[in-house]
Amino acid sequence: MFKGILIEKDEAGYRASLTDIDEGQLPAGDVTVRVSHSTLNYKDGLAITGKGPVVRRFPMVPGIDLVGTVEQTTHPEYKVGDAVVLNGWGVGEVHWGGLAQKARLNGNWLVPLPAQFTPQQAMGIGTAGYTAMLCVLALERHGVKPEHGEILVTGAAGGVGSVATAVLTKLGYTVVAVSGRPEESDYIKSLGAVEILDRALFSSPGKPLGKERWAGAVDVVGSHTLANVCATTKYRGVVTACGLAGGMDFPASVAPFILRAITLAGIDSVMCPRPDRLEAWRRLGSDLDIAKLGMISKEIGLNDAISHASKLLNGEIKGRVVVDVNR
Ligand code: NDP
Repeated sequence: MFKGILIEKDEAGYRASLTDIDEGQLPAGDVTVRVSHSTLNYKDGLAITGKGPVVRRFPMVPGIDLVGTVEQTTHPEYKVGDAVVLNGWGVGEVHWGGLAQKARLNGNWLVPLPAQFTPQQAMGIGTAGYTAMLCVLALERHGVKPEHGEILVTGAAGGVGSVATAVLTKLGYTVVAVSGRPEESDYIKSLGAVEILDRALFSSPGKPLGKERWAGAVDVVGSHTLANVCATTKYRGVVTACGLAGGMDFPASVAPFILRAITLAGIDSVMCPRPDRLEAWRRLGSDLDIAKLGMISKEIGLNDAISHASKLLNGEIKGRVVVDVNR
């Protein structure tokens, strides 16, 4: 038996509980991992509370991230004792995830724990941080350079926003943050943002084009915010869209695309191919200041994961939440 969070849905309703799970119930896979830590991402908040249709099979162990050591394996690339990280691939949605002491997975989904990070630090980054790095890599791939001007980061006090702000700053970009939490201004500035704009400036319907300001952007909010970010991006600027914290719609016009030649780059972490993941983790190893990671993440026990899920969706959590699944 091992401890884990189990989400069930039946006549009694949708519920998540911390429970003892029989190892015989683990799903099929060629690598069994003794999990040390998982995390709480926005998607885990939706899964645990049932506020979004994230879980597509029941019962389900949530947790789109995990780190741990290989306990059993028939996969050629892994041996017992290897430290591994998992992000995404539908884990915590259609395949049992990381908010439990054990997981059985497809070895092709795993990446080795980067040598620069402890297991806790890797989960301090987690899917949110690795997605932030994918956004940075997309800005670079589309040619955005620090000397081109300011980069806007929305949802800056959240997981993706915090890591994006820290990484972009270390790379020499000038980051302007958007946040709805003035009480987190010192935190956001300590990550490197030079200015913080109120999220209300972006959240209402805007004009097709506004004053050109951003050389690039990392948007986690979607909806009117993404439309307004596009409308204020400079000629040939690049906006990376990875989130829907403000809504899934995109009420924009084509004006920024056809008159200012801006690029909207979509970012997905779940099915992202392995070489890109390895590159993102490698770059996090060199471009994320470990001291800032300490400010970004806090640790809780598995007992507290369910209560923290609603806090996360209510915007009450700063940065990242690491879950020690063994306490
Ligand atoms: P968090 O909850 O940690 O951060 C989201 C932040 O967005 C909040 O902290 C808040 O920042 C801001 N926010 C929340 N609600 C609103 C709103 N209604 N309007 C405007 N801003 C809002 O989540 P994550 O950082 O983990 O994830 C952010 C988004 O990115 C989510 O939508 C998530 O699903 C998505 N995501 C997508 C991935 C992908 O593969 N494409 C991978 C990972 C995440 P503040 O308080 O500073 O305003």
